Amino acid sequence: MIKFEKVTKRYDDGTVAVEGLDLEIHRGEFFVIIGPSGCGKTTTLKMMNRLLPLSDGMIFIDGKEINEYDIHDLRWNIGYVLQQIALFPHMTIEENITVVPEMKKWSKEKMKQRAHELMEVVGLDPNTYSDRKPSQLSGGEQQRVGVIRALAANPGIILMDEPFSALDPISREKLQDDLLFLKKELKKTTVFVTHDMQEALKLADRICIMKDGKIVQVGTPQELMHQPANEFVKQFVGDNSFRGEEMNLGKFLLPIDDTRTTESSITVSVSAPLKELLEKLSDEDQLAVEQDGEIIGMINRQRIIQYLSTRLQKRGIANE
Ligand code: ADP
Repeated sequence: MIKFEKVTKRYDDGTVAVEGLDLEIHRGEFFVIIGPSGCGKTTTLKMMNRLLPLSDGMIFIDGKEINEYDIHDLRWNIGYVLQQIALFPHMTIEENITVVPEMKKWSKEKMKQRAHELMEVVGLDPNTYSDRKPSQLSGGEQQRVGVIRALAANPGIILMDEPFSALDPISREKLQDDLLFLKKELKKTTVFVTHDMQEALKLADRICIMKDGKIVQVGTPQELMHQPANEFVKQFVGDNSFRGEEMNLGKFLLPIDDTRTTESSITVSVSAPLKELLEKLSDEDQLAVEQDGEIIGMINRQRIIQYLSTRLQKRGIANE
């Protein structure tokens, strides 16, 4: 369905964002691209709908090279959802949803029907919301409109770039559930970018883990968990699996201890899985925390307990 052949993207300043990417995304599959910030996820996505030109290689959709498509046909056939959806402020919700159908010259009746049908799927009552303006909706509701707008004209492919990352945990979970439902109903080919492994594991048929512009592993959630290709994948899958929360010790670090040389301390990655941290701390009273090869601070048991306690509090609030 979507095929990348040795795709490289070099920006004008020489940054190589994506290098030699070979990838095949199957028809109807929910494909998640995940990796640390700056690894090339957005660049990969934007090359598919020609928002960015390739520096090298080729991308095929249904066997046809993307440059051979008429640009309008290509874009109309590819829905696109961004992190911060920009709805047209002066148009009603219904008009916002039917922008592409309108360009495709659908009948008024058909557009209305489609808009209402999609609004119901994501729990927005058409009677209440159709005539509202975007400013009369919450952030989560606007994001929901953004998602269904991308689906309105029945595109064959949907690209989503961290569509839920700006939302609070509850709206986020609700939208993920909506998406799971839509996924079963519509069976669209979806390419979804995130940096949240829990989100990836929940939604994906297959996950592609990227690092430094290259693919580290592509596989089903089970394959990544049970047969990680290397330590990076293992860490990445592990890190994020603490009940859906990313380990982020940053705020809990103690200053680097000058009285004891950090070199002789046991080090742990800032995003190490909780289990590893606790194991190491059972022998040591203090660990040096490392990020990108540099020691950025120290951590002890007391700080870990503080960290866990804030996490539990957050969860308590989220469960209310
Ligand atoms: P991700 O989506 O994984 O965070 P991006 O695809 O946005 O990563 O970026 C990949 C790399 O390309 C990063 O190093 C980023 O700084 C760089 N980059 C992105 N856009 C540009 C640009 N317009 N010009 C130069 N470098 C860019």
